[in-house]
Amino acid sequence: MGIVLKGITAALGEALVLKRVDIRIEGNTIETVSESPLEAKEGYETIQGEGKLAIPGLVNAHTHLPMVLFRGAADDLPLSQWLSEYIWPREARLTEDEIYWGALLGLAEMIRSGTTLFSDMYFHLDAIGRAVAESGMRALLSYGIIAPRLDEKGKQELERTEWTITHLHDTVDGRIRIAVAPHSVYTCGKDVWEMAVKLARKYEVPIHTHIAETRDEVADCYVRDGVSPVELLERWGALSGPVIAAHCVHVSPADIEILKARGVSVVHCPKSNAKLGSGTAPVARMSEAGVNVALGTDGAASNNSLNMIAELRFASLAAKAVNENPMLIPAKDALRMASAVGATALGSGDTGKIEEGCRADIVLLDIEMLETLPMYDPISALVYSAGREAVSDVMVDGRFLMRERTLTTIDEDRVKYEVKRIANRYRNQTHPHLGGREIPRADAGVEGGTDGTYHGEEKRVDPDLRVE
Ligand SMILES: [Zn+2]
Repeated sequence: MGIVLKGITAALGEALVLKRVDIRIEGNTIETVSESPLEAKEGYETIQGEGKLAIPGLVNAHTHLPMVLFRGAADDLPLSQWLSEYIWPREARLTEDEIYWGALLGLAEMIRSGTTLFSDMYFHLDAIGRAVAESGMRALLSYGIIAPRLDEKGKQELERTEWTITHLHDTVDGRIRIAVAPHSVYTCGKDVWEMAVKLARKYEVPIHTHIAETRDEVADCYVRDGVSPVELLERWGALSGPVIAAHCVHVSPADIEILKARGVSVVHCPKSNAKLGSGTAPVARMSEAGVNVALGTDGAASNNSLNMIAELRFASLAAKAVNENPMLIPAKDALRMASAVGATALGSGDTGKIEEGCRADIVLLDIEMLETLPMYDPISALVYSAGREAVSDVMVDGRFLMRERTLTTIDEDRVKYEVKRIANRYRNQTHPHLGGREIPRADAGVEGGTDGTYHGEEKRVDPDLRVE
């Protein structure tokens, strides 16, 4: 089985060179990219590329998927207060079932905005893994370790991490891979970090963490340990294997030297950093120094979106604004950060580009929308003008997850119902804008209301991917 895209404008290779080509997809692989017409073999689907742009699937290199459940639950607060007063108390109540439905909502949102690969840090990875398997998406998942000491709880966190590796790593045709995720230097102590690093080395998986997100985190680290978070992790030997480091907002020139020397991949999360008032990462300085800088949304409770098209636009605009320099992060660089660079950071170098031999993770966009016409430069149109409505088709491993704007693996109505039902459990907690008053309950909007029984039509859209 295969697909042929005929006469389509495509952003090819890591350089995103625009050409009008035919693309033949064989199974899960981009078999041929040709400027001459390609024939569809027997049983192949042919798609006419007129008016479309093909780009590599977008890569969201840092998120916390089920946090979509707390989107808008607490805004306009600094990180420490937001986390300790509003997010962590709610997260402590989350059940496996709720995480499953939250993950599916996040996956649906990501597919609709053209993402095909993401790196996640959360808990209940059995539920998240099941949602990812069913959705057809590609993911690097990790269990977020929070343990100041290597006590009973610390050991349990590491055991859970090892469970995720032995049960979920390299499953569903390699679509799910696992990383080890000590949350940060302020939530995990030295002994915990050392055991986490050992685990990552034993199973040859990357480390996924947060580094230098806020000025306070760095100041506290100097007070506690006399060095910056980057220097501390270097001292602990944590940076000598593959590391995916979210944020790196407050890094010194010496930190940047270490990140470069150790080949650490930084994940820039500009919208979350802006909304939490944490600052702006020195992306231009890191890139000039040769650091691999990918892009991520962070969780939808601090963004409040998982839309990578909005993120890459914001990354480009924020860099220009903050540095008073319109040359920074040009459109192609923004798209590259959100595709090939992200894929490399996540250890999936066979994705993130449209190239013969790569995995067929491809996104098609309508480039003849009102807001993108006239068309001089399709990549400019995508980065500076297009909304996520432009995304028409999304493919992972040669399988459509969205075809002509219809999701083929996720039952959107069911997911909306379940998420509205779940949110009612968290409304009795205070909201910063309501002065401690409860938020009214919502009707789930489906016959049967919020009693937990779904009465809508059951749409088993892709039985091949169903996990029972
Ligand atoms: Zn994060």
